[in-house]
Amino acid sequence: MANMSLEKQKMPELAPDIRNKNFEEVALGYTPEQAVEEAGRCLNCKNKPCVGGCPVQIDIPAFIQKIQQKDFEGAYQIISASSALPAVCGRVCPQENQCEGRCVRGIKGEPVAIGRLERFVADWHMKNATAVPEKPVSNGKRIAIIGSGPAGLTCAGDLARKGYEVTVFEALHVAGGVLVYGIPEFRLPKAIVAREIEGLKAMGVKVETNMVIGRVLSVDELFEQGFDGVFIGTGAGLPRFMGIPGENLKGVLSANEFLTRVNLMKAYLPDSETPIQRGRRVAVVGGGNVAMDAARCAKRLGAEEVYIIYRRSMEEIPARAEEIHHAIEEGIIFKTLTNPVEILGDEHQNVTGLSCVEMTLGEPDASGRRRPVVKEGSRHTLEMDTVIMAIGTSPNPLIRSTTPGLETNQYGCIVTEEETGLTSREMVYAGGDAVTGAATVILAMGAGKQAAKAIDEKLSK
Ligand code: FAD
Ligand code: SF4
Ligand code: SF4
Repeated sequence: MANMSLEKQKMPELAPDIRNKNFEEVALGYTPEQAVEEAGRCLNCKNKPCVGGCPVQIDIPAFIQKIQQKDFEGAYQIISASSALPAVCGRVCPQENQCEGRCVRGIKGEPVAIGRLERFVADWHMKNATAVPEKPVSNGKRIAIIGSGPAGLTCAGDLARKGYEVTVFEALHVAGGVLVYGIPEFRLPKAIVAREIEGLKAMGVKVETNMVIGRVLSVDELFEQGFDGVFIGTGAGLPRFMGIPGENLKGVLSANEFLTRVNLMKAYLPDSETPIQRGRRVAVVGGGNVAMDAARCAKRLGAEEVYIIYRRSMEEIPARAEEIHHAIEEGIIFKTLTNPVEILGDEHQNVTGLSCVEMTLGEPDASGRRRPVVKEGSRHTLEMDTVIMAIGTSPNPLIRSTTPGLETNQYGCIVTEEETGLTSREMVYAGGDAVTGAATVILAMGAGKQAAKAIDEKLSK
């Protein structure tokens, strides 16, 4: 008999006024008892609607049944047949729009906590599994992966398992992409990503950091070095700015730069010497996950007041529901229906304020969301000393400008065949944010998986 509770098992969390002063993980994970209890809410539906909401099609009811039977390793085996990074996805997937969004238990009450259960299983496996992954027998074929984010890592893992000799080239000094330089420690501990990368290395994947492809070596030079295929998973790390006056003032920075200094360059450690803007009054412009992460980091670095400035309303705000909830709990102030028009500075070129207008919502635009319209006579100034722009990113032009014949679209994204990830260049595949523009971890992983399959089909003919 299923557990008919309308609510998910609560996940223990650090208290908001403690966690907003440190970088420890906010959500603490289920105990085995809580996981079994939550698993009992699953109805094991025959038509598995939840699976249709998962971009990598994890057999969700099957792994949840294993949890009910307390066979946690069995649950892990089912998840890992479809997903290379379950400890990551269980923490950062926008579940409310994906698997949990389709769960029938969500029709009346809360859906089954699929993400929390996935996280539990992955963490349990990390703590308890002793088997070391075996190094597969080489098939003699070499693949170069450019970029070590979730797309590149997934593609690398799938190909290594099939016997390919895989080398991952990463521009930064640490592998992991946004998982290490963007998403903060309090949402995704870096040790988890490091552990996944160690697993790939144990399977024989080589990771070369500080290798900017397009500068140190070009895609063509990779083929000259004997690689049989290339996968481009270089993400979309180039920040956008609004193009308003004052964006060159001291104290204005992109969320990517701010988060890279906090995470990758470890500015969050108390004895860190990494230079970083520690504002007293901080405005973060934007309403996505990146904006929430930047705002919550600024608060943890000691800011007295941190504002999210977003031009639409709370109904349209794109960040994950859980991140918004946590940000509000931690004291982040939301100024919605507000849009900056100028950043103000003093005679030393330091930021002093943000001039904004109020907005109302008009007719829906091409994205289906209601278009924000400026309210007459609503211009006002907010006193600030730091402005962080989190209004989106696009792919870096380096690869496309150094790879002749690589087709890209008007947004600078690489054009690929939908089913395979094949680009306009022979044996060059691409996936993740470099193709879609800024999206999600699980979509990037799905693209890496699809390309690995296509590369294998092509090279094993
Ligand atoms: P990336 O993760 O961007 O990795 C690309 C890698 O390629 C980087 O390491 C980069 O240094 C490297 N690279 C770039 N150019 C070169 C080159 N020329 N040579 C060698 N290496 C190169 N998604 C979610 O699902 N949930 C979330 O909660 C979430 N939060 C986010 C928070 C932040 C702050 C950010 C920035 C993004 C967030 N996302 C989230 C989005 C998600 O992280 C991305 O969609 C995903 O990481 C894309 O994966 P990727 O492999 O395509 O690229
Ligand atoms: Fe849900 Fe993401 Fe796990 Fe798929 S990978 S089941 S979408 S949490
Ligand atoms: Fe279980 Fe919900 Fe999936 Fe049904 S839809 S199998 S209740 S997780």
